[in-house]
Amino acid sequence: MTAHAYDGAYTKDARWLDIQKRLPERLDRARESVGRYLRRSIEAITLRVVDAGADRSGAFAYSDGETITLYSEHLVLGRYDVDALLRHEVFHVVHRRALGAHKFAKTPRWAREGAAMYVAGQAPARLAVLAVHAVRTGREDPAGWLLNPNAPAFVQYFRYGAEFLALERATSKPRARDAIVAMLAGVLFDPTVHAAELKALTADVVRAPKKQWDNIRAADSASERRKRMTGIVQKKLDRANVSLDLARMLARAGEYGRALAVLRAGVLAHPRTSTQFGGAALLELTVLREHDAAAFTKALAHARIDLKPYPIYEDVLALAEKRAE
Ligand SMILES: [Zn+2]
Repeated sequence: MTAHAYDGAYTKDARWLDIQKRLPERLDRARESVGRYLRRSIEAITLRVVDAGADRSGAFAYSDGETITLYSEHLVLGRYDVDALLRHEVFHVVHRRALGAHKFAKTPRWAREGAAMYVAGQAPARLAVLAVHAVRTGREDPAGWLLNPNAPAFVQYFRYGAEFLALERATSKPRARDAIVAMLAGVLFDPTVHAAELKALTADVVRAPKKQWDNIRAADSASERRKRMTGIVQKKLDRANVSLDLARMLARAGEYGRALAVLRAGVLAHPRTSTQFGGAALLELTVLREHDAAAFTKALAHARIDLKPYPIYEDVLALAEKRAE
C-alpha cells in the first residue's frame, strides 16, 4: 500500500506513533482476507488518516475507489476494531471498483453496507448490540422492532448486516458468498425473502439464556462485552446446532444412517465452530446405534475432539470395554 503522511492533531501523540507503524501491514492483511473470501486479487489501496475536524457524523472512516480515509480521533482513542473496519472499507473499495462509481452510488444502502459488514465479520456483533438494546429497553417484540422501517437510524443500519446473516441462515455460508460475489456484478437478492429468518435469528439471540446475558453485563469493558455478545450470535448461527437437532430427530425415529450423515455433513461444513459439539453428538448417535469400535475410532480421529468434558465419554468407554470383552 501507499500511505499519505498524516499531519494533524495527534502527529506527536505516542498512541498515534504506535498505531502508525502497524497500519500498512494491517491494511495488507485486510486486503488479503477480503480477497481470499471473494477469491479475487485486490489491487493496491491507498490509506490516509485525517482529523475528523468538522465532521461530527460519528463515522470512523470513508472510502472511494482508491483511498480509505480513517479519522484520527476514533483511531487514536481505540474506539473500534481496526482490522474489521479495514476489511469493511476494503470491501467498499472492491465493490465500487467492480461496479464503477455511478452504479455503486445507485446500489441500495442495505446492499452496500450490509455486505461490507458481513464480509468484515461485523454483522454478528451488531445484531447482538441490537438484541441487547431491545432487551434493555424492554421491547416485547425485538425482532419486529428490528424489521420496523420506522425504527431509529442505527437500527436500520445494523439491520443491513443482519440481512446477510439471515441469508446465510436460510441458505449456507457458500451461498451467501455467491450472493455477495453476484452483487459485485450488480445482481441483488431480495432481502425481504429472508425476513422470516431474520426474525427467527433475532428472536433466538434475544432468547439467549439469562446466564449468558448476566455474563455479558458482567464484562468490565465495552470490547469484552462486544466479544461476549458476538459469541452468542455466532453460536446461534452455528449450523452444526441445526444438524444436531435434525440428527436427533432422525435418530429418535430410528433412522440412524440418515442421522449420522446429517451430523457428518454439519461437522465437515463447520469444522472450526462445531467440531466439539458435532463430534460429540456424532459419537452419541454412534453409541445409540451400537456401531462397531472402528466407527468410534474413525469418528474420533476425524473430529479430533477431546471427549472428556462430555457426558457421552463414559458411555463410549463403557461400550468400548464391552466390545473388548
Ligand atoms: Zn460502510
